[in-house]
Amino acid sequence: MNVHDVDTGQDAPIFAPDAFRLSDFQAELIAKARRFGKAKLAPRAAEHDREATFPIENFRDMHPEGLLAICIPKEDGGIGADFQTYCLAAAELGRYDGATALSWNMHVCSTLWSGPLSDDLDMSAEDRAAHRKRRGMHYQRILKDGAIYAQPFSEGGAAAAGSVAFGTEAKPVAGGFIVNGKKIFASLSGSADYYGVLCTERAEGEAASRRNTLYLGIPAKADGVSVVGDWDPLGMRGTVSRTLIFKDVFVPEDAMLMPHGVYFQAATRWPHMFLTLSPTYMGLAQAAYDFTVAYLRGEVPGMPPVKRRMFPTKQIAVAEMRVTLEQTKALWFQAITEARANPSKDQVLRAYAAQHTVMENANAIAVKAIRTCGGQAMLKSLPLERIYRDSRCGSLMLPWTAEICLDRIGREALYEPGEKDE
Ligand SMILES: Cc1cc2nc3c(=O)[nH]c(=O)nc-3n(C[C@H](O)[C@H](O)[C@H](O)COP(=O)(O)OP(=O)(O)OC[C@H]3O[C@@H](n4cnc5c(N)ncnc54)[C@H](O)[C@@H]3O)c2cc1C
Repeated sequence: MNVHDVDTGQDAPIFAPDAFRLSDFQAELIAKARRFGKAKLAPRAAEHDREATFPIENFRDMHPEGLLAICIPKEDGGIGADFQTYCLAAAELGRYDGATALSWNMHVCSTLWSGPLSDDLDMSAEDRAAHRKRRGMHYQRILKDGAIYAQPFSEGGAAAAGSVAFGTEAKPVAGGFIVNGKKIFASLSGSADYYGVLCTERAEGEAASRRNTLYLGIPAKADGVSVVGDWDPLGMRGTVSRTLIFKDVFVPEDAMLMPHGVYFQAATRWPHMFLTLSPTYMGLAQAAYDFTVAYLRGEVPGMPPVKRRMFPTKQIAVAEMRVTLEQTKALWFQAITEARANPSKDQVLRAYAAQHTVMENANAIAVKAIRTCGGQAMLKSLPLERIYRDSRCGSLMLPWTAEICLDRIGREALYEPGEKDE
């Protein structure tokens, strides 16, 4: 893999189509993502990072390119990318702007989860027909109007890790639901047109249960929705992940992005759905490596053409980064390739391992890139220090934080379901 493709002068794909046996459809889509990332995202990333503002113009530009509809099924008018194809395209965007790629993921999940993923799950014929009709309406908003969906599920308690029912609740009423609750770290807050909220459906007097998790597309302009708090974090500043408050918000029944009970089924039967935060960080890992090679070769645009590649210590550092990058790519590619309904235990453990590896290694490679390139490379006029800060955020993201992945691998490797010590 070269930093630049010698034939075209463009960045080479992270996953070369021939080497990774990608289809022509996949090769074209990841090339499109790469061209778009380089032309549109990269030039705007520094300013949004500095100001902690949301790059809405990136999303406006995605609409005519079809990128907002990447996972909308073809029969509904979208591009029809499957899980693996989406992940590969998202990694390409992550190279150029982590915050946009991560926010895009939140939007895309509203279509991936309600689309190809839901098609793998059990529903009655009646539920499936109603779901297809409802999701068609959501998809039309995206296709026609360029509507943007966010995906706020974190609440600051144990719910986002999947341990307890969400505290945000939807009370069934005539024609829909009344929603009350709070979501923290809502990427795209204030910019999304719809918030894809996970909440607990709970009638008066009923106990809260994770089985009754409901996935609702709540209009940002609905009465009772507000965005509060500030946003001044270490990294991923362009995601603008502020707090959302829902106070007696009425949403009609057709706001359901999945039928009753299907989110719980997805979370248990299609666990790779939570791997979708990782592509951004796969892209950041590649970006840190690419920057280092270009910098040591004296080829970073805007910098004097000083070569630093002749020092053996630099060569060893680059070799170590490359080894880490190749290990990360291989494991991640395997995990995104075997994503499916009802994966085996080994496949699930591998998905946790892939998530942990990408999130930790993206930052490890960025740390080594800064140490290897030196002081001038960490100036804010260059992208490396942003990559370094953005890459730090991956391990913290629920439900599969780096800690939780280790926790689960250890426990699930040593205990079969239901097994206990005396
Ligand atoms: C840039 C950025 C963007 C984000 N965007 C979104 C978004 O769009 N939507 C969204 O819903 N969330 C989003 N998040 C939130 C994210 O997924 C987490 O919910 C959030 O970072 C949790 O922070 P916390 O301090 O409340 O975690 P806590 O719940 O306090 O957990 C702290 C740490 O303890 C560990 N831990 C927590 N629970 C368990 C457990 N049950 N078992 C073992 N260990 C555990 C974890 O390792 C965790 O990192 C975003 C976060 C970041 C950094």
